[in-house]
Amino acid sequence: MINIRTALGKSPDLETEILLCHVLNKTRVYLFAHPEQLLSQSQWEMFQNLLAQRAQGIPVAYLIGEREFWSLNLKVNQHTLIPRHETERLVELALELIPNQPDIHVLELGTGSGAIALALAKERPHWNIVAADIIQEALSIAKLNAQNHKIQNVSFYLSNWFDNIPQHPYHALVANPPYISEHDPHLYQGDLRFEPRNALVSSQDGLGDLQCIIKQGYEYLLPGGLILLEHGYDQKLQVQTILNELQYKNVTCWQDIQGNDRVSGGWR
Ligand code: GLN
Repeated sequence: MINIRTALGKSPDLETEILLCHVLNKTRVYLFAHPEQLLSQSQWEMFQNLLAQRAQGIPVAYLIGEREFWSLNLKVNQHTLIPRHETERLVELALELIPNQPDIHVLELGTGSGAIALALAKERPHWNIVAADIIQEALSIAKLNAQNHKIQNVSFYLSNWFDNIPQHPYHALVANPPYISEHDPHLYQGDLRFEPRNALVSSQDGLGDLQCIIKQGYEYLLPGGLILLEHGYDQKLQVQTILNELQYKNVTCWQDIQGNDRVSGGWR
């Protein structure tokens, strides 16, 4: 017997609905419109099986293989970070700060499921976007997501940060790199336990990859080009110091919807 309350996370009702929709292959609207709907024997077994896996801690997004980001339904798996709402703030800022005109070149590093690049590409079909990741399996998912959404203005590169990136000077560089310290206890709680370590954890108290991107990124930006980076709620000062050291101008930090310092950036 599975105790549904302990099997499910902080939003048990929502998680139940999402898992039921997956089993029924229906939308949540359908679920509410058809409260009389019964599960077949095999659907019931599938639901029980999903609950049992959820009870082991496996994130709902991995169980159903998808997560919505910026109104795009994205495939995800254990090779990709699960896209977060906070990261939609980064997308919002990029759309606000990068000129809405043709012939704009944008680079996204550490694309994972492709969330940021695909959201930008969807909103700005005339931009040229380069998206890179070090993990081939993640890149395959990102490409599949591009295909599923018929997005054609993103090119994908297998690259360890800048190692294999076309040298084209960019109008903007955006990233949600790993920024959690290896000592952070959150790594041993909830969904984070199941997400790829290399998408979460960075050296130097979480600042190692941010520093590398800020440093090398300067050479890839056009004069006036924008760098925009997601970081931890308590990393604003450190990230701003690195940006200032590198001579980026108008260094700024923006808050996410919860009021946490979440995105910092500057202009070359
Ligand atoms: N924002 C994520 C979290 O704290 C981590 C993602 C990242 O390190 N870029 O759960």
